[in-house]
Amino acid sequence: MTDIKSMTADELRQWVTDNGFPAFRAAQISDWLRKGVTDFEEMRNLPVQLRTFLKSFCYISVATIEKKQVSRYDKTVKYLFSFHDGECVESVLMSYHHGMSICISTQVGCKMGCTFCATGKSGFSRNLTASEMLAQIEAAQRDAGVRIANVVLMGMGEPLDNFDNVTRFLRLVSSPQSLGIGMRHITLSTCGIVPKIYELAGQRFPINLAVSLHAPNDVIRSRTMPIAKAYPMEQLLQACRDYFQTTGRRVTFEYSLISGVNDSDACARELGQRLRGMSCHVNLIPVNTVEGTGYRKSNVQRQQSFADILAANGITATVRRTLGSDIDASCGQLRRKHLSKGGQSLGSIQQK
Ligand code: SAH
Ligand code: SF4
Repeated sequence: MTDIKSMTADELRQWVTDNGFPAFRAAQISDWLRKGVTDFEEMRNLPVQLRTFLKSFCYISVATIEKKQVSRYDKTVKYLFSFHDGECVESVLMSYHHGMSICISTQVGCKMGCTFCATGKSGFSRNLTASEMLAQIEAAQRDAGVRIANVVLMGMGEPLDNFDNVTRFLRLVSSPQSLGIGMRHITLSTCGIVPKIYELAGQRFPINLAVSLHAPNDVIRSRTMPIAKAYPMEQLLQACRDYFQTTGRRVTFEYSLISGVNDSDACARELGQRLRGMSCHVNLIPVNTVEGTGYRKSNVQRQQSFADILAANGITATVRRTLGSDIDASCGQLRRKHLSKGGQSLGSIQQK
């Protein structure tokens, strides 16, 4: 079956004509898809023969709401969406002063195994298609009755481990025929798959790149992030410098502060020295406690001291406001609970 919503406008036109239908039908199909139609029968201006053909050979990706949690504090909404095969992912809708933002997932689970991350703890099931990434945005927009202005690829999964589908998604979501969300309003977060950062830079998308660093050196980094063993930090930082040179886009570093692990003044000084001179920004995030990890967040004084030392080294750093702290804020937790209550079986996923 063809995944019709993952096709670009050009591909759809080609596909329609290759199958013996006139090219203008592609634009009509696109219009219906943009309106959120999920059944080919509703595409009323198409001839019956074409509707029957579409039903036989295509499907329209839909994200169905399985669960929804609304924060009492700040109206942040966390969704658990399911797809046609019963697999589930999480998305979080947040309201910022510059409009509505959504954090979407790019994979069901993740292979990277970071020790502080709920998603990493549940193993990997499969990649999401481009249309399944779009479907999360569309379903949240429809449910909340809002227009989403910003998208962050910071939900479940490692976007650069699903490179082709993610870059296809970036092209689709920004196109006027689809949701028309400009790439400058999109942030992709990666744990640091170095060759893929170069490949992404080569695409010259004007997106924002966030890199999860979480440590000032490889010794500490490899304790929580297995990827650090494959790609040492110096190679990663060089890829980030190259990314800035190629795209002109400043890189953001994500740094989760974990009490007693990576939050000492010495860590802050070492990080400040390593990042000195780079055009970057550091986001400090008190780690979200995930059951079974034993990690605790740093206290407020530690957070401030860390930020101050970075500032003294000329690195701008902000402690990120945590939204939705009452609704299993960090991605992967809601799905873990769902699975443990007998939702979609884990199949081949290994539970750590
Ligand atoms: N795989 C990508 C994007 C998804 S994770 C990545 O790792 O960057 C999005 C962000 O959430 C990353 O910065 C990740 O390190 C962070 N994160 C994961 N678990 C967390 C937790 N328990 N507390 C705080 N941040 C967490
Ligand atoms: Fe995967 Fe990102 Fe979680 Fe690491 S932090 S396990 S890369 S989703």
